[in-house]
Amino acid sequence: MLFADVILPLPLHDTFTYEVPPEMESDIKRGCRVVVPFGTKKIYTAIVMKVHGERPDFDVIKPIKELLETTPIATEKQLQFWEWISKYYICSMGDVYKAAIPGSLKPKDEQAIREKNRRRKNILGDAFLSDDITCLSPLSEAQGKAYDEICTSFETHKTTLLHGVTSSGKTEIYIHLIDKYLKEGKQVLYLLPEIALTTQITERLERVFHDRMGVYHSKFTDAQRVAVYQKQLSDEPFQLILGVRSSVFLPFNNLGLVIVDEEHETSYKQQDPAPRYHARNAALVLANMFGAHTLLGTATPSFEVYHAARKDRYGYVQLNQRYKDIQLPTIQIVDLKEARSKRKMKGAFSFELIDAIREALENKEQVILFQNRRGYSNFIECKNCGWVPRCEHCDVSLTYHKKTDQLTCHYCGYTYKLPEKCPACEEKHFANKGLGTEKVEDQIKDIFPEATTLRMDLDTTRSRTSYENIINEFADHKADILIGTQMVTKGLDFDNVSIVGILDADHLLHQPDFRSYERTFHTLSQVAGRAGRKHRQGKVFLQTRNADSDIIQQIVNNDYWGMFFQQMTERKDFHYPPFYRLIDVYLRHRDNQLLGHLADDMAERLRNVFGNRVLGPDCPPVSRIQSLYIRKIMIKIEHGASIEKVRNVLTAIQNQMLEQTVAHGLTIHYDVDPM
Ligand SMILES: [Zn+2]
Ligand SMILES: [Zn+2]
Repeated sequence: MLFADVILPLPLHDTFTYEVPPEMESDIKRGCRVVVPFGTKKIYTAIVMKVHGERPDFDVIKPIKELLETTPIATEKQLQFWEWISKYYICSMGDVYKAAIPGSLKPKDEQAIREKNRRRKNILGDAFLSDDITCLSPLSEAQGKAYDEICTSFETHKTTLLHGVTSSGKTEIYIHLIDKYLKEGKQVLYLLPEIALTTQITERLERVFHDRMGVYHSKFTDAQRVAVYQKQLSDEPFQLILGVRSSVFLPFNNLGLVIVDEEHETSYKQQDPAPRYHARNAALVLANMFGAHTLLGTATPSFEVYHAARKDRYGYVQLNQRYKDIQLPTIQIVDLKEARSKRKMKGAFSFELIDAIREALENKEQVILFQNRRGYSNFIECKNCGWVPRCEHCDVSLTYHKKTDQLTCHYCGYTYKLPEKCPACEEKHFANKGLGTEKVEDQIKDIFPEATTLRMDLDTTRSRTSYENIINEFADHKADILIGTQMVTKGLDFDNVSIVGILDADHLLHQPDFRSYERTFHTLSQVAGRAGRKHRQGKVFLQTRNADSDIIQQIVNNDYWGMFFQQMTERKDFHYPPFYRLIDVYLRHRDNQLLGHLADDMAERLRNVFGNRVLGPDCPPVSRIQSLYIRKIMIKIEHGASIEKVRNVLTAIQNQMLEQTVAHGLTIHYDVDPM
């Protein structure tokens, strides 16, 4: 009699053992999916982790209902990778399984799979039309030098950082590297942050690699994702995958190179739900499993990566010259304190910025305006008594969206009607506070009624096509001004943008997070990098109330090194990454008071083991989401300490906590290396 240990798509840490019916014995393997009963009436599709002959020690062992395939759906390497994710990020294998396998990959029989594959091949054939011209453009002298240095660096370092200023033509270097690895018969994974996966880059790569390339994107339908996944399992997989963070979960058989573009991007970190993995770090582990090389590319390296390069753990290649002689833009600071006091402002715009926009429009040039908040206003306020509408389920004020005339909670997505009168004082007048992209667009239309505008934020880019349409329309100069959140910062190259306006740099600086300066530097340098035309220098207007601060000066002077050095001293003094590893422990419960006691209890237990490495519990800035109250405990662990031991202690304490009857309804989860 055989038994199978399986993982279920549930946040449960254990595997579950089922009996293998005799007719399945010869076909069942690790990595195959099976249909199993669970509890009294539930049915799940599970993944087999182990087939063995040891009868487990319980009375009733249920049999597997159905074996879905005889060829494993997850390869041995994938399963090992899942195990690493689950252990490192302290989440269940079920969580990893849910994230790794596209949802609808649930065909009922082999015939159906073959049939679907045939149809999918047709879809793919249409989507990636191939022609025989390979457009591998020659590299400039600076690019060629960087390319050679990367190849040399790979001889001694598995991982290398390519530190190249914005618009230095990193993509062309990637293309030449990809070509080299494909010619050696190796597979390449090219990771991009979520938002940057634009037609611009896709088309550029498709022109060179044709149907050898597959794209894996979160805005693809499930069927499209399944098609790519199936193709990677087949005998003729794509040799190049261009994708977002979840593409680290695709099957590979011969991975030779991983490229992580814009490696500093925080969107590489999955926030919710589990697994809360960092795709760059996970990709490094994946590459290591294949003995593959990894190239990390960026204009503004993350501290973790730059630190590793300085310590010679990673190779380091610099590229300081912009492509096609496009000069780095000049950055002009606009002191908002002064502009306001001298009344040299119209809405959110200083007179200097307005003049520059006017000149650009007269010259038929384009403008990008950056404001990192969507919606119309951050919140509305009763003009009479100061009442502010808040979400009923979360501890946040609601954002007003003018177009829909609704109030929206940006945490749970719940929408509310704008009240006709203030529920506190019954007055009917509300004031819009704060500045969202929608309001910026309204104001600019007031100032320049003849200019055409586009807005790019989460509200205008719900679908993949809407996002691409905005980019294409702006690239084709069908609009003069592009207004956007940080989406406009991501690796987009427009030829005709001469002016970039940063409307409020302070909002970024004042985030309550130890990374806020590093992030502000990344974001603003990237935004600024969007300005610049061929043979003509672009200009950036940076509006701030902190004109004299070090960080603003460092951004203006493009002084990455100065910013890095100053911030690293603080990181070291206060025990933050990259010197220490952070683990955030989140506790959630409906009852705020009870949660307070439980969080104190857990922190106490953690202190008994980790001592003063434990901070908190604290209420996070948003301390209630979807009716659940939240407490956070932070643990700072020395680098080099065994993550396995830490995890074992955490799991043991978690079990002690959850065993208590008083803790009923408590959930605990972890965020390892939080961003
Ligand atoms: Zn009121
Ligand atoms: Zn809410």
